[in-house]
Amino acid sequence: MKVGETVPTAKGNAKIIKKEAICTDAHWALLLKPITDAEIKAAIFSIPEHKSPGPDGYSSAFYKDSWSIIGDEVCNAIKDVFRSGKLLRQLNATILTLIPKCRLKKNDCVILNNKIVDRIRSLGAKNLSYAGRLVLVSSVLSTMHNYWAPMFVLPKGVLQRVDNICRNFLWEGSSEYGKVPSVGWQKVCVQKQEGGLGLKQSHVWNITMVGKLVWWIDVQPDRLWVQWVNLVYLKGSNWLEYNPSSDCYWYWRKICGVRDNMIEGFVEGQWSHNSGVYTVKGCYQWLRLKRDRVDWYRKIRCPIVIPKHNFIAWTIADQAFKLKDRLVQYGVSKDDLCCICQMHTETHHLFVKCQFRQELLHIVGEWLGTDISKEGSIITHARRRWSKLRKSISTTIVLTCWYFIWMQRNKSRLHQCISRPNIVAKHLQEVIRSRLFHCKPVCISQKDVN
Ligand SMILES: [Zn+2]
Repeated sequence: MKVGETVPTAKGNAKIIKKEAICTDAHWALLLKPITDAEIKAAIFSIPEHKSPGPDGYSSAFYKDSWSIIGDEVCNAIKDVFRSGKLLRQLNATILTLIPKCRLKKNDCVILNNKIVDRIRSLGAKNLSYAGRLVLVSSVLSTMHNYWAPMFVLPKGVLQRVDNICRNFLWEGSSEYGKVPSVGWQKVCVQKQEGGLGLKQSHVWNITMVGKLVWWIDVQPDRLWVQWVNLVYLKGSNWLEYNPSSDCYWYWRKICGVRDNMIEGFVEGQWSHNSGVYTVKGCYQWLRLKRDRVDWYRKIRCPIVIPKHNFIAWTIADQAFKLKDRLVQYGVSKDDLCCICQMHTETHHLFVKCQFRQELLHIVGEWLGTDISKEGSIITHARRRWSKLRKSISTTIVLTCWYFIWMQRNKSRLHQCISRPNIVAKHLQEVIRSRLFHCKPVCISQKDVN
């Protein structure tokens, strides 16, 4: 039935209507009794805390925690609905957001995109480092994945827009597109071991969340919802071979589309992953974009390194930053010479052979007790015989060096000046000292004591 459509209903039973009043005076009094604040409070406090929040974003936990402040107003608003028979516009919004459950179009999801943009703007994110923005993007995406993705098969255009906002925010600090990002979004979304940052691919995550319904239909016939699906749509046909007719509800056809994406995961009618038990995480691992493992992943993984230094280390290890030859390619720079020494082509030179880098590493090598300036790649310096603590500290020093070289390179390109290696080394030493002081201790072995 559509909204506004007139549907004939069964006629009233005249015998019952002609009967004397069935409700007693006591029943009438009870039905007409005004709703009390205690009843409203009891109803709200009976909602479990982790139920999905409403479109205002507030869960029942919020109302419970702040009841001492907002309780009176909430009670007055609810009592007013009973008194006047009119629903508050704000409460009506809840009902309107349920309509997309029937048919969800790109325009219906504008609220989702707007919420993400508002959140990004409210956090003054422009001043955050890349690592800070990465944490924020990850939290925004996980909110969307946990609240929207389990309920709706979101239109591809909407998910694309969400990805674009997050990508612009990560690289630009704003929701608008500015310049070509250093790393493509697809690559950012692959696993860390494969050279990415481990963010989730929105459309794959959406499929795997709704995929649970597909699995339920296959293995849990006793569920009420599955019984309804069997009665209304499947009517005894095999779920994995069923084809929905074109007059079926849009949402049901979407669920069938998700089944098509997962169909190879079913072998002889059984879900073939995770010992036959469907898990969202397991299905995501199966459907996600995969790349070859990268050998540098473990070398730049160290808990002591400051996150923003680690982010720069990731882009350098991946050679993602626009070194001069790429800037020449885009017409931003006229030559491809190293910004610091102006003597060699910058790519494959700045972090390996540049004189500035050699001098800086020579100084920090003295703290480590080994000369690392001659090594071709600065991530191969850790010695096997070293203790875990020494390896962690040396990795931190070297990755922090990368960050400082990168900053000096940018300073030279933009302001035509650089600091001397010994000054940079001193600053670097202070950063490492304070980091070691504030970090939780890495296990100290007998080797370190000796
Ligand atoms: Zn150089």
